[in-house]
Amino acid sequence: VLVLVIDQLLPHQLDPRLPGGLGRLAREGRVFADAAHAHADTETCPGHAVILTGLHPGRVGIPVNDWTDHETLQSRYCVGDAGPDAAVLGAPPDRPGEPPSGRSPRSMRATALGDWLQAARPGARVFTVSGKDRSAIMLGGRRPAGAYWLDPRGALGFTTSRYYRAALPEWIAAWHGADPFAGWLAALPERWEHPTGAPPNGARPDDSPGEVSREGRTSGHPLRDTDVRVVMRRLLVTPWLDTLTLDFARTLIREERLGVGPAPDLLGLSLSGTDYIGHFYGPGSQEARDALLRLDADLARFLDALDAQVGPGRVVVALTSDHGVLDLSEWLVATGTSACPLEGGRVDARVLKRELEAALERRFGAVPAGEKPWAIDSGYAITVNRRLAAARGVPLAEIAEAARSFLATQPGVARVWTADEIARGAGPEPFATLYRRSYDPERSGDLVLQPIETCLVSEYPEGTSHGSPYLYDRAVPLVLAGSGIEPGVVRGRAAPVDLAPTLADLLGIPVPTGLDGQILPLR
Ligand SMILES: [Zn+2]
Repeated sequence: VLVLVIDQLLPHQLDPRLPGGLGRLAREGRVFADAAHAHADTETCPGHAVILTGLHPGRVGIPVNDWTDHETLQSRYCVGDAGPDAAVLGAPPDRPGEPPSGRSPRSMRATALGDWLQAARPGARVFTVSGKDRSAIMLGGRRPAGAYWLDPRGALGFTTSRYYRAALPEWIAAWHGADPFAGWLAALPERWEHPTGAPPNGARPDDSPGEVSREGRTSGHPLRDTDVRVVMRRLLVTPWLDTLTLDFARTLIREERLGVGPAPDLLGLSLSGTDYIGHFYGPGSQEARDALLRLDADLARFLDALDAQVGPGRVVVALTSDHGVLDLSEWLVATGTSACPLEGGRVDARVLKRELEAALERRFGAVPAGEKPWAIDSGYAITVNRRLAAARGVPLAEIAEAARSFLATQPGVARVWTADEIARGAGPEPFATLYRRSYDPERSGDLVLQPIETCLVSEYPEGTSHGSPYLYDRAVPLVLAGSGIEPGVVRGRAAPVDLAPTLADLLGIPVPTGLDGQILPLR
């Protein structure tokens, strides 16, 4: 079973007219054309958490990528782990005061398809691979045979943590080679050249306002450099990230002899390049279009290699994404498709945070140097500083209410949800249900900010993002293909949270009771 997640893929990008692997899945698979994530906080970690657990993010304990710990007030990364048994292989020791660089799935409060499969079918093996640690770890569940991701800091390449293994297998060292520039990075071009012609291909002009300028806004984005850290930084926003991830995964399939044993094996593969490219240039950019065509071609070769090893008819492929994305604000405004009342369509999250902190200091008093603010703002979530509240004798609810009433009047804000409302399921639908599914009482904020539809809340002045409860951030492709699955297009409700129970049922292993996902009809 191959579960393929393409980070930030929109439904229309799974186009049956594409000549390669994406097109093949769209033509030969069972396409759930109205599929969308069923939770509000549409980020990568929760998006991946639901796919193979069959549970909404709140119940997995992964409400967002990074949350504020209610007691320590420190930021917690969804797969961060300070334990010595979670150190990333090959990484230098952590420096004091920095967030832990260790990685594990210990924040997950749930098991996943891989755990169910290994328990039900002795000999079954589960591996995951991704450009991002959080994606590989979420898809793996508690105990995969291996979970590998690309370490973004430098020359480590694909690695894992001690949680999974004490040492990397030899084939991984061989894949990388002794010198990265003579080994795994040898095939990278000097620059990313791509077509620049405006429509008819449906894309925007190559040089469009609002695109991130860091690596240039037009074809010829630099890639090679003598410093591997520079190459890694650039690689993430080019199609070669996914090319390399697929090559690594193809080598894993061969070296670990996946799909040829007595029991089914599971490979969770998440491709991250589409997400970085979408954030930088927008989903309608020439860059996104070129990346999609290259991915389509790479996937054709990958699926052929998989068929060749495992045998045609013995592979089931499920493809989906962890979230969608909003197109570039500047493009939405220019084409008259923005509903955001703000000029430019952007809400500057840094300004909002500063003004909230100032308003609460005016009301409750100045915050001593070195102390966190009255309310800690991390993206859409706001967590009241319990330590300060206790020291000053101010009730938590009073601080939360002051923050809520301040934020609710700010431009670009549709509604500010309190944790109590979310837990009770109160408030307007469909949002009340979507926010409740994202809610974890220990990890969610005391308040959650809902932006106005098509307003981009971001701390960056360029690029675009996702994370809202609107359909552009929730709608994703969902397709299953392979033996026992009738091709066709199916309309109506379907969600990535349905994949785990659907695949468990297809594999003939017990489907845990109490899941949020439903078994999708495959014929
Ligand atoms: Zn993502």
